[in-house]
Amino acid sequence: MTISGQLPESLAFRSGLEVIKRIEPRIADAIESELHGQRNSLKLIASENYASPAVLLAMGNWLSDKYAEGTVGRRFYAGCRNVDSVETIAAEHARELFGAGHAYVQPHSGIDANLVAYWAILAQRVERPALIRSGVRNVNDLSESDWAALRASLGDQRLLGMSLDAGGHLTHGYRPNISGKMFHQRNYGTDPKTGLLDYDQVREIAREFRPLILVAGYSAFPRLVNFRVMREIADEVGATLMVDMAHFAGLVAGKVMEGDFDPVRHANIVTTTTHKSLRGPRGGMVLCDDDLAPFVDRGCPLVLGGPLPHVMASKAVALAEARQPQFRAYARQVVDNAVALAEGLLGHGARPVTGGTDNHLVLLDVTPYGLTGRQAEAALLDAGIVTNRNTVPQDPNGAWYTSGVRLGTPALTTRGFGTAEMAEIADLIDTVLRQTAPGTDTDGTPSKVRYVMQEGVAAEVGGRVTELLAGFPLYPEVDLGGR
Ligand SMILES: *Cc1c(COP(=O)(O)O)cnc(C)c1O
Repeated sequence: MTISGQLPESLAFRSGLEVIKRIEPRIADAIESELHGQRNSLKLIASENYASPAVLLAMGNWLSDKYAEGTVGRRFYAGCRNVDSVETIAAEHARELFGAGHAYVQPHSGIDANLVAYWAILAQRVERPALIRSGVRNVNDLSESDWAALRASLGDQRLLGMSLDAGGHLTHGYRPNISGKMFHQRNYGTDPKTGLLDYDQVREIAREFRPLILVAGYSAFPRLVNFRVMREIADEVGATLMVDMAHFAGLVAGKVMEGDFDPVRHANIVTTTTHKSLRGPRGGMVLCDDDLAPFVDRGCPLVLGGPLPHVMASKAVALAEARQPQFRAYARQVVDNAVALAEGLLGHGARPVTGGTDNHLVLLDVTPYGLTGRQAEAALLDAGIVTNRNTVPQDPNGAWYTSGVRLGTPALTTRGFGTAEMAEIADLIDTVLRQTAPGTDTDGTPSKVRYVMQEGVAAEVGGRVTELLAGFPLYPEVDLGGR
């Protein structure tokens, strides 16, 4: 306790809102309402979390005023001493935490981190050899015809990633994304019977396709990936193994994913977000071997805008938190909770894809309830349960309506939820979905969007959700007064 009986966190956020209110009260309102909304919803969105007050506060300051293109000690701007310290500290924490040779903490998001990685690999494996062959050091010194040839070969490379409907990410070569336009791309999927990764299939496609880049990592796959085997496959075909651990970086940091399942140990390059299971600010990061480091460090201004020093400061704070012993307990609990959630759902006869989970997420196939993912997502939201719809492998309803909902435990685990609460949540989800049926469209055909929930269900489940949330206050150290 400090002066006036308030914790420093309360004082900090209250004062901040006061200052904002003087200029644009509607924004102060929105910020305050967001806290209220977060406190009162049961957040099962697998990609979200709650960052600590220290992580949030590290972003709201004058580090934001500084331009710092370039890297530590080699900036295109003067006066970057403090930004240099911030970036150095963040990178040092990242290297220590993940056991990486090099860490690049500038990417503004996960997608940006992937772009940095793709261009770094292209620079290392295509551009540099071309420059060496032509006897020049800099692309600017290439003759017009050599430059044209280099550009053509940069655009003629192959990428192999996990398919979107098996749980991959749109930046892993999906056609509407820039990655699908930059590269010739092919996908590997999961075994239709088990829902698990089929490494023999990956190897077979890789042998035939011979990609420059093999991408592993996912947004909606509930099992472990054996990165040692993926590296063997990449080495066999001469590919660079890139792992996008955006979703599960917190589980790597917390040493739940170790040995064969630790991407940093096996990949040539690892990309991540910092705001998902890692519980940092919104942002991205690249970890790599020393031989890729000089190429990765050219991310800004190659594909990134100027670094965000305030966000790098916040990343440093989050990474420092993740190096504390409590974070390992947190990561373990995230997985225990996901397992308990899957088991609870199985106990109700529900059908999680692959029959369960080894990580932080459960992919629930809602077709046994006769619903689309879109209907299930909306019905659950009516009852105060926040999830997002997601395709299941070989989804009959496509990427818009889908046949599943994705459930993740990182956020609720931060809030303090344990396995007993997960069993209760499984019951709530099943209660809602069992009592929801598809509606009909105006022309009388079965709808993929409309649904009918039995009367009273939303209110009853909503009441139980409120009770659950009340037991685990969010940001208890922050009291804004009023609500
Ligand atoms: C979330 C995610 C991203 C994108 O992160 P943003 O910060 O939203 O750009 C990239 N890859 C994977 C696997 C993700 O899950």
